[in-house]
Amino acid sequence: MSTAVASPAERLTAIRARIAVAAEQAGRTSESITLIGVSKLQTAAVIAALADLGQKDFGENYLQEALEKIESLRSRALTWHFIGQLQANKTRPVAENFDWVHTVDRLKIASRLAEQRPVHSPPLSVCVQVKLGDEATKGGVLPAELPALLAAIAALPRLRLRGLMALPPAESTLDRQRYWFAELRLLFEAARQRHPTLNTLSMGMSSDLEAAILEGATQVRIGTALFGERLQSLA
Ligand SMILES: *Cc1c(COP(=O)(O)O)cnc(C)c1O
Repeated sequence: MSTAVASPAERLTAIRARIAVAAEQAGRTSESITLIGVSKLQTAAVIAALADLGQKDFGENYLQEALEKIESLRSRALTWHFIGQLQANKTRPVAENFDWVHTVDRLKIASRLAEQRPVHSPPLSVCVQVKLGDEATKGGVLPAELPALLAAIAALPRLRLRGLMALPPAESTLDRQRYWFAELRLLFEAARQRHPTLNTLSMGMSSDLEAAILEGATQVRIGTALFGERLQSLA
């Protein structure tokens, strides 16, 4: 590992290059893939520096710190993605302040988001998180329950059902990584038979974005490779 500290500009250039190489290998264009900078435990100043370089989409996991950053960066018209586990009693600030939610995994959460999305805001874009593998700590609807959940969410007002998201088990080989992402892609293709407007596959992080892009990711969520190591806390 190099000990030289890369600048945000260098990291952004390197990630864009990784995306471009993987896209080309997959026979796709870089433009078909949105880079979401996962800015949890990173400061508003670093986000602003990346925004100045043209990075517009950011993902946050922890509500309180996210709300402070969204407020302080309001003038920059960024696109904010909520990617953390969402409790039913915390949906209102998410419905009011974010553009996307990637982690909807039950109808109760979706219903509350629909109810609480301000009428003057554009519809809230939502992805349903699917549980791949059998990891107790991770959220997500089971594949068998996905069709019913998608049908119920599609009927709700003020939400725009966009696609699927997953956080699969960590794997160290490209083939194993691709195995999980292929599972999500197959579920996505099946879902599109019923819901032809779905257009988003949110999958891939710093260590597996190539595998995700080869399997059709349209949004990759990149934290450490873009920002460097996360702080322990922002306080
Ligand atoms: C933290 C996080 C990421 C980014 O992870 P890195 O390995 O730092 O790129 C992506 N998605 C979700 C849901 C996360 O919580």
